[in-house]
Amino acid sequence: MGQSARLTFCGGVGSVTGANFLLEAAGKKILVDCGLVQGSRFADEENHKSFPYDPSSIDYLLVTHAHIDHIGRIPKLVSEGFRGKILSTPETRALARLMLEDALKLIEEECRTTGALPLYERKDVSAALSLWSDVQYHEILSLAPDVSVYAKDAGHILGSAMYNITIDADERGYEETRINADGEVEGRKMRIVFTGDLGNSPTPILRDTEEITDADYLVMESVYGDRNHEDRDSRRRHLKDVISDTVKRKGTLIIPAFSLEKTQVLLYEFHKFEEAHEIPVVPVFLDSPLAIEVTKVYQAMRDNFNDKAMAEDAREDIFRFPRLKFTAHSEESKAILNVPAPKIILAGAGMSNGGRIMHHEANYLPGSQNTILFVGYQAAGSLGRQIQDGAREVTINGQKVAVHAQVETISGYSSHKDSDHLVEFASRAAESGALRKVFVVMGEPKSALFLVQRLRDYLGIDAVHPSLGERVELA
Ligand SMILES: [Zn+2]
Repeated sequence: MGQSARLTFCGGVGSVTGANFLLEAAGKKILVDCGLVQGSRFADEENHKSFPYDPSSIDYLLVTHAHIDHIGRIPKLVSEGFRGKILSTPETRALARLMLEDALKLIEEECRTTGALPLYERKDVSAALSLWSDVQYHEILSLAPDVSVYAKDAGHILGSAMYNITIDADERGYEETRINADGEVEGRKMRIVFTGDLGNSPTPILRDTEEITDADYLVMESVYGDRNHEDRDSRRRHLKDVISDTVKRKGTLIIPAFSLEKTQVLLYEFHKFEEAHEIPVVPVFLDSPLAIEVTKVYQAMRDNFNDKAMAEDAREDIFRFPRLKFTAHSEESKAILNVPAPKIILAGAGMSNGGRIMHHEANYLPGSQNTILFVGYQAAGSLGRQIQDGAREVTINGQKVAVHAQVETISGYSSHKDSDHLVEFASRAAESGALRKVFVVMGEPKSALFLVQRLRDYLGIDAVHPSLGERVELA
């Protein structure tokens, strides 16, 4: 029985966002992720472009996790004929529903204001969800007589998975496939692992990224391929200082927060700070209906927390503290303006490309007593990136807004592995001796190329940064 496969890099190369990979093996077409290209607008031409394959010919779509740059084009895929099966962990399915419905609102808003064509409609989101099934971590699923898949925990956000796709090399077929005590699939196979995004383990809430020890080919992310994060003590100190300094100036701290994972980690940190009386007690607003819903999913699916977080959560809710207010409704959101400073506002969207943060930015960026704090990746072209890069004036909803507020960035709260930890992850994967090649993707070119060089120079691994649309034969 032949053992070959073809891998095409349809998106997520040369940029962090827009993940989309096509694996063809044993007569099946398997996609991994179908993400949105993120920049200034949903209406970006990139997102409206046709897929480089016929969506109706695709058998499976494996979803690594629920960030929009991994799922945002799924409804478009469905509207253009995809009728295969979508597979993810149950947590990813629950979170993806929230993320896609939220994206739909932003798309509708953008279409109203700019007259752009919608990327997709409500019926496409519903159709996508109806094709979706769950796969549990470590459960082996057959995709074809010679092809199986199983998921490991990527530790990036709740439900995040790496997929190990195994193509049988012998006549015994997948029924013989079994997982040994180390969580590896046994037998003579070709194994291709897609990492999705890799978590910045250890994290306060999630389990650590599992090791990959049996891959022949690794398709790995490189968002921070060229940089290391500040360490955990220093990020915590930095956050505490930013809060204390803003409170001293009687200012408002605004944090453009990614609703998924970052918000929950920040709530956890605030909870700890307050418990230990490490910061002045000021009102904290979670001003994001999406982040509020996502936090509820985290609370409902706490079985996936790490042991320490589960034990803490059993004592008291790790995401709540006395002065925290969830402002789901727009009247509550508007009322925040009347609450005297000092105060802290977490609001979406994380890259300021829509959502309530934009109103807060318009209100608070002109005041030098205020602070805007970035805790996550800001895509090139986004409003967040402009502010982070030091723009003295920005345009928000058509209005010019002066930036006199303090601009701070803490990289340590990233939910991605940094350069050293990406190298360590690949190094562990290479130890088995089976690893033949690493495809470094999902990073801006300089990050991806820097990681490629490190893997080659320090580990002697055959690593490449494929180009968009490149197709490789795996044998
Ligand atoms: Zn992600």
